[in-house]
Amino acid sequence: MSSTTSLDLKRAHSTRSGSDQDEAPARPSREEAEAAVRTLLRWAGDDPARDGLVDTPSRVVRAWEEWFSGYQADPEEMLQRTFEEVDGYDEMILLRDIRFESHCEHHVAPIIGKAHVGYIPESRVVGISKLARIVEAYGKRLQTQERMTAQIANTLQDVLKPRGVAVILEAAHECMSTRGVYKPEITTVTSRMLGEFRDNEATRREFLAIIGKPRVDLG
Ligand SMILES: [Zn+2]
Repeated sequence: MSSTTSLDLKRAHSTRSGSDQDEAPARPSREEAEAAVRTLLRWAGDDPARDGLVDTPSRVVRAWEEWFSGYQADPEEMLQRTFEEVDGYDEMILLRDIRFESHCEHHVAPIIGKAHVGYIPESRVVGISKLARIVEAYGKRLQTQERMTAQIANTLQDVLKPRGVAVILEAAHECMSTRGVYKPEITTVTSRMLGEFRDNEATRREFLAIIGKPRVDLG
């Protein structure tokens, strides 16, 4: 997968008139991004020209490339290579405690947490590391935890068409621990259950027992 292709795609989207409401505007240049960081440094009360800060804008922009690399990723594409020979395996496949870092779209503050992702295959099984890569692809974007949870579950459902998907995210939001309400002890838990995980209480309980969490309210 080439990042150029995906960027070009975004540019193409942004120049097309009257398309989707979530179309991305054209990407600013690296120089423009660094200038924006210098503006924020001045806004914070510091002098972007002093020794310790001269290279900060370029470092921040490079960090953003890493933190927001998910925009260049194509989660559906990641799941295309599946293994259909499962020798009748039709039990739950589960990856737990997948650490992720994301950023909240309201404050661009870090969201640090763990994801638990499970599914029950119908016929298609995907390499287990792909589940972690899907989490990363959606995590490395500006997010709400609720949407990220839904995106992971829906993508697995749409591409693998399994008998069920279960996704639980638990995370701490730095916009709640370092500012605002100052509640460092709070963890937010979100979940999305599809198919058998939603319809079958026993299946859901099994999933929750394996990830070793007390029962969360699944609505
Ligand atoms: Zn926030």
